[in-house]
Amino acid sequence: MFSFITNWWHDRIVKQSQITDDQWTGAFARLPLLKRLTKSERQQLRRLAILFMHKKAIHGAQGLVVTDEMVLVIALQACLLILYLDIHWFDGWVEVIVYPGGYATTHNVTDEAGVVHQVSNAMLGEAWQRGPVVLSWEATANAGVMDGENLVLHEFAHKLDMLTGSANGFPPIHKEMDVDQWTDTFTTAFADFQAKAAAGIDIGINTYGASDPAEFIAVLSEVFFERPQLIQNHYPQVYDLLRQFYRQDPIA
Ligand SMILES: [Zn+2]
Repeated sequence: MFSFITNWWHDRIVKQSQITDDQWTGAFARLPLLKRLTKSERQQLRRLAILFMHKKAIHGAQGLVVTDEMVLVIALQACLLILYLDIHWFDGWVEVIVYPGGYATTHNVTDEAGVVHQVSNAMLGEAWQRGPVVLSWEATANAGVMDGENLVLHEFAHKLDMLTGSANGFPPIHKEMDVDQWTDTFTTAFADFQAKAAAGIDIGINTYGASDPAEFIAVLSEVFFERPQLIQNHYPQVYDLLRQFYRQDPIA
């Protein structure tokens, strides 16, 4: 019953969308990432993007005016992750904040002597547990070009990971998947990737993924959708698990 009402409500939201066909065509055209999708997948992605735009509040920061076109670019890429999952995978938070470019965050760090220092970090994006996703528009506008790096996929992949608590590289996997297999496969691949990164061996996957297991799966999610063959070549078992988790096979 609940899902019947939800579907009816979602259909209504989709029907009432003010986005024109030209706007959709324009947004799809600027994202080579979406070229591989079939017609029915594009329809489904469009539906999810409308629901996403309805449920999320997308704000500009530092005076940035967020246009429909920008919202579409964000929504279509975020929803590619959940194309075969569902919009409720993005439940539990509302806000997306878009900065014009990179931005700085400051936080306090206490050193061994007990002295508090203010540390400033240059950021392109963030995903907060039960809080907003923050994106640099400059980096978002250049995403989706199939170079294996995609800020939008990265930050929203963190959101999926966070559905089981803090980001730790362990999103809620499906019933038919094996928890131990997931843990073993990712732990082994992460150790290998960290060792390669430490040795300066470049396999085409951003070494930022060697920071911790949460960054590993976020970086791999970017690569999975943009340069899937890289994961298939280096970590075929990881590719297989990501394929099962996202229920998509970008290589095929
Ligand atoms: Zn990250």
